[in-house]
Amino acid sequence: MPAQLIPRSLLACLTALCLLLGSALPAGAAYSLPPLPYGAAALEPAIDATTMTLHHDRHHGGYVANLNGLIEANPGLDKLSLEALQAQISSFPLAVRNNGGGHWNHSQFWAVMAPVGEGGAPGADLRAAINRSFGSIEAMQTQFNQAAAGRFGSGWAWLIRKQDGSLAITSTANQDNPLMDLAGIERGTPLIGLDVWEHAYYLNYQNRRADYIKAWWSLLNWNEVNRRYAAAA
Ligand code: MN
Repeated sequence: MPAQLIPRSLLACLTALCLLLGSALPAGAAYSLPPLPYGAAALEPAIDATTMTLHHDRHHGGYVANLNGLIEANPGLDKLSLEALQAQISSFPLAVRNNGGGHWNHSQFWAVMAPVGEGGAPGADLRAAINRSFGSIEAMQTQFNQAAAGRFGSGWAWLIRKQDGSLAITSTANQDNPLMDLAGIERGTPLIGLDVWEHAYYLNYQNRRADYIKAWWSLLNWNEVNRRYAAAA
Protein backbone atom coordinates (compact mmCIF):
# COMPACT_ATOMS: atom_id res chain seq x y z
CA MET A 1 0.00 0.00 0.00
CA PRO A 2 1.46 3.43 -0.92
CA ALA A 3 2.32 5.41 2.17
CA GLN A 4 -0.10 8.21 1.34
CA LEU A 5 -2.99 5.72 1.52
CA ILE A 6 -2.21 4.65 5.09
CA PRO A 7 -4.52 6.52 7.41
CA ARG A 8 -2.67 9.22 9.31
CA SER A 9 -3.91 7.81 12.61
CA LEU A 10 -2.51 4.37 11.79
CA LEU A 11 0.87 5.88 10.92
CA ALA A 12 0.88 7.68 14.25
CA CYS A 13 0.07 4.41 16.00
CA LEU A 14 2.88 2.57 14.18
CA THR A 15 5.35 5.31 15.04
CA ALA A 16 4.33 5.18 18.69
CA LEU A 17 4.64 1.38 18.70
CA CYS A 18 8.13 1.55 17.23
CA LEU A 19 9.20 4.09 19.86
CA LEU A 20 7.69 1.97 22.61
CA LEU A 21 9.42 -1.19 21.41
CA GLY A 22 12.65 0.71 20.97
CA SER A 23 12.62 1.94 24.52
CA ALA A 24 11.70 -1.50 25.85
CA LEU A 25 14.77 -3.09 24.29
CA PRO A 26 18.13 -2.81 26.05
CA ALA A 27 19.44 0.67 25.35
CA GLY A 28 22.92 -0.45 24.43
CA ALA A 29 24.15 -3.97 24.27
CA ALA A 30 25.52 -6.28 26.92
CA TYR A 31 29.02 -4.88 27.06
CA SER A 32 29.90 -1.22 27.41
CA LEU A 33 33.06 0.86 27.27
CA PRO A 34 33.99 2.12 30.74
CA PRO A 35 35.01 5.79 30.81
CA LEU A 36 38.62 6.65 31.64
CA PRO A 37 38.88 7.25 35.40
CA TYR A 38 40.93 10.45 34.70
CA GLY A 39 41.35 12.96 31.89
CA ALA A 40 43.08 11.90 28.69
CA ALA A 41 45.99 14.24 29.47
CA ALA A 42 46.27 13.20 33.12
CA LEU A 43 49.01 10.64 32.47
CA GLU A 44 51.32 12.96 30.55
CA PRO A 45 54.20 13.00 29.95
CA ALA A 46 54.52 9.21 30.28
CA ILE A 47 51.48 8.68 28.03
CA ASP A 48 50.31 11.55 25.83
CA ALA A 49 46.67 12.60 25.52
CA THR A 50 46.35 11.64 21.85
CA THR A 51 47.55 8.11 22.51
CA MET A 52 45.16 7.82 25.47
CA THR A 53 42.18 9.03 23.45
CA LEU A 54 42.86 6.80 20.46
CA HIS A 55 43.68 3.84 22.66
CA HIS A 56 40.54 4.15 24.77
CA ASP A 57 37.96 5.37 22.28
CA ARG A 58 39.03 3.54 19.13
CA HIS A 59 40.93 0.45 20.22
CA HIS A 60 39.11 -0.46 23.43
CA GLY A 61 35.87 0.87 21.95
CA GLY A 62 36.42 -1.36 18.95
CA TYR A 63 36.80 -4.48 21.08
CA VAL A 64 33.56 -3.67 22.91
CA ALA A 65 31.65 -3.04 19.67
CA ASN A 66 33.01 -6.21 18.10
CA LEU A 67 32.16 -8.26 21.20
CA ASN A 68 28.59 -6.98 21.17
CA GLY A 69 28.42 -7.86 17.50
CA LEU A 70 29.30 -11.46 18.36
CA ILE A 71 26.46 -11.97 20.83
CA GLU A 72 23.87 -13.03 18.27
CA ALA A 73 26.08 -15.79 16.88
CA ASN A 74 27.16 -16.93 20.36
CA PRO A 75 24.09 -17.54 22.52
CA GLY A 76 24.85 -17.12 26.21
CA LEU A 77 27.73 -14.72 25.60
CA ASP A 78 25.75 -11.81 27.03
CA LYS A 79 24.73 -13.79 30.12
CA LEU A 80 28.29 -14.07 31.40
CA SER A 81 30.12 -11.45 33.37
CA LEU A 82 33.19 -10.22 31.53
CA GLU A 83 35.40 -11.97 34.09
CA ALA A 84 33.48 -15.25 33.90
CA LEU A 85 33.83 -15.13 30.12
CA GLN A 86 37.64 -15.18 30.42
CA ALA A 87 37.55 -18.43 32.42
CA GLN A 88 35.38 -20.11 29.74
CA ILE A 89 37.01 -18.57 26.70
CA SER A 90 38.13 -21.92 25.29
CA SER A 91 34.51 -22.77 24.46
CA PHE A 92 34.12 -19.71 22.20
CA PRO A 93 35.49 -18.86 18.76
CA LEU A 94 38.73 -16.92 18.31
CA ALA A 95 36.92 -13.64 17.63
CA VAL A 96 35.32 -13.79 21.10
CA ARG A 97 38.70 -14.57 22.64
CA ASN A 98 40.34 -11.61 20.90
CA ASN A 99 37.61 -9.06 21.57
CA GLY A 100 36.50 -10.38 24.97
CA GLY A 101 40.12 -10.48 26.08
CA GLY A 102 40.67 -7.01 24.65
CA HIS A 103 37.73 -5.66 26.63
CA TRP A 104 38.85 -7.22 29.94
CA ASN A 105 42.53 -6.38 29.47
CA HIS A 106 41.93 -2.72 28.71
CA SER A 107 39.36 -2.33 31.50
CA GLN A 108 41.97 -3.44 34.02
CA PHE A 109 44.66 -1.35 32.29
CA TRP A 110 42.94 2.04 32.80
CA ALA A 111 42.29 1.15 36.44
CA VAL A 112 45.86 0.13 37.21
CA MET A 113 47.19 3.53 36.17
CA ALA A 114 46.91 6.87 37.96
CA PRO A 115 48.38 10.34 37.47
CA VAL A 116 51.93 10.64 38.78
CA GLY A 117 51.90 10.99 42.57
CA GLU A 118 48.36 9.66 43.00
CA GLY A 119 49.04 5.93 42.84
CA GLY A 120 50.01 5.38 46.47
CA ALA A 121 52.54 2.74 47.49
CA PRO A 122 52.65 -1.03 47.87
CA GLY A 123 50.84 -2.07 51.05
CA ALA A 124 52.51 -4.20 53.72
CA ASP A 125 50.84 -7.47 52.65
CA LEU A 126 51.60 -6.97 48.96
CA ARG A 127 55.15 -5.89 49.68
CA ALA A 128 55.71 -9.02 51.80
CA ALA A 129 54.30 -11.24 49.04
CA ILE A 130 56.53 -9.59 46.42
CA ASN A 131 59.56 -10.01 48.69
CA ARG A 132 58.76 -13.70 49.23
CA SER A 133 58.48 -14.42 45.50
CA PHE A 134 61.11 -12.09 44.03
CA GLY A 135 63.35 -10.87 46.86
CA SER A 136 62.47 -7.21 46.39
CA ILE A 137 60.15 -4.83 44.53
CA GLU A 138 63.07 -3.85 42.31
CA ALA A 139 63.76 -7.48 41.40
CA MET A 140 60.08 -7.98 40.55
CA GLN A 141 60.16 -4.88 38.34
CA THR A 142 63.30 -6.06 36.56
CA GLN A 143 61.68 -9.40 35.78
CA PHE A 144 58.46 -7.67 34.69
CA ASN A 145 60.40 -5.32 32.39
CA GLN A 146 62.12 -8.29 30.77
CA ALA A 147 58.77 -9.99 30.14
CA ALA A 148 57.29 -6.78 28.71
CA ALA A 149 60.27 -5.99 26.50
CA GLY A 150 60.67 -9.62 25.45
CA ARG A 151 57.09 -10.18 24.30
CA PHE A 152 57.54 -10.58 20.54
CA GLY A 153 54.88 -8.66 18.64
CA SER A 154 51.69 -7.67 20.45
CA GLY A 155 50.70 -8.69 23.94
CA TRP A 156 50.77 -8.03 27.64
CA ALA A 157 53.06 -8.44 30.65
CA TRP A 158 51.54 -9.45 33.97
CA LEU A 159 52.21 -9.78 37.67
CA ILE A 160 49.87 -12.52 38.84
CA ARG A 161 48.92 -14.19 42.08
CA LYS A 162 48.87 -17.94 41.55
CA GLN A 163 46.55 -20.42 43.19
CA ASP A 164 49.22 -21.38 45.74
CA GLY A 165 49.53 -17.76 46.87
CA SER A 166 52.89 -17.09 45.25
CA LEU A 167 53.36 -14.26 42.78
CA ALA A 168 54.78 -14.67 39.27
CA ILE A 169 55.64 -12.64 36.19
CA THR A 170 54.13 -13.83 32.95
CA SER A 171 53.33 -12.61 29.45
CA THR A 172 50.55 -13.32 26.98
CA ALA A 173 50.23 -12.79 23.25
CA ASN A 174 47.60 -10.66 21.51
CA GLN A 175 44.63 -10.11 23.86
CA ASP A 176 45.03 -13.29 25.90
CA ASN A 177 45.30 -12.97 29.69
CA PRO A 178 46.06 -15.12 32.76
CA LEU A 179 42.36 -15.71 33.49
CA MET A 180 41.83 -17.66 30.27
CA ASP A 181 41.36 -21.42 30.32
CA LEU A 182 43.78 -22.03 27.48
CA ALA A 183 46.72 -24.37 27.08
CA GLY A 184 50.00 -22.53 27.41
CA ILE A 185 48.60 -19.78 29.66
CA GLU A 186 50.07 -19.54 33.14
CA ARG A 187 46.91 -18.89 35.09
CA GLY A 188 46.44 -16.63 38.08
CA THR A 189 44.78 -13.44 39.25
CA PRO A 190 46.25 -10.44 37.41
CA LEU A 191 47.56 -7.80 39.82
CA ILE A 192 49.39 -5.68 37.23
CA GLY A 193 48.83 -5.83 33.48
CA LEU A 194 50.82 -3.73 30.99
CA ASP A 195 49.80 -3.31 27.36
CA VAL A 196 52.83 -3.61 25.06
CA TRP A 197 50.93 -3.44 21.77
CA GLU A 198 52.49 -0.76 19.56
CA HIS A 199 49.18 1.15 19.63
CA ALA A 200 49.87 1.75 23.35
CA TYR A 201 53.08 3.74 22.81
CA TYR A 202 54.08 4.19 19.17
CA LEU A 203 53.03 7.85 18.68
CA ASN A 204 55.31 9.01 21.47
CA TYR A 205 57.98 6.33 21.69
CA GLN A 206 58.03 4.82 18.18
CA ASN A 207 60.07 1.61 18.48
CA ARG A 208 61.48 2.44 21.94
CA ARG A 209 59.32 0.04 23.92
CA ALA A 210 61.81 -0.11 26.80
CA ASP A 211 61.48 3.67 27.33
CA TYR A 212 57.68 3.36 27.46
CA ILE A 213 57.91 0.54 30.01
CA LYS A 214 60.33 2.52 32.18
CA ALA A 215 58.12 5.64 32.11
CA TRP A 216 55.00 3.57 32.71
CA TRP A 217 56.06 2.59 36.23
CA SER A 218 55.57 6.24 37.27
CA LEU A 219 51.85 5.75 36.54
CA LEU A 220 51.29 2.54 38.45
CA ASN A 221 48.23 2.72 40.72
CA TRP A 222 49.58 0.76 43.69
CA ASN A 223 46.31 1.39 45.52
CA GLU A 224 44.53 -0.66 42.85
CA VAL A 225 47.24 -3.36 42.97
CA ASN A 226 46.81 -3.55 46.76
CA ARG A 227 43.06 -3.90 46.30
CA ARG A 228 43.46 -6.69 43.72
CA TYR A 229 45.91 -8.55 45.95
CA ALA A 230 43.58 -8.34 48.95
CA ALA A 231 40.61 -9.49 46.85
CA ALA A 232 42.54 -12.47 45.50
CA ALA A 233 43.97 -13.65 48.81
MN1 MN B 1 45.74 -1.73 23.83
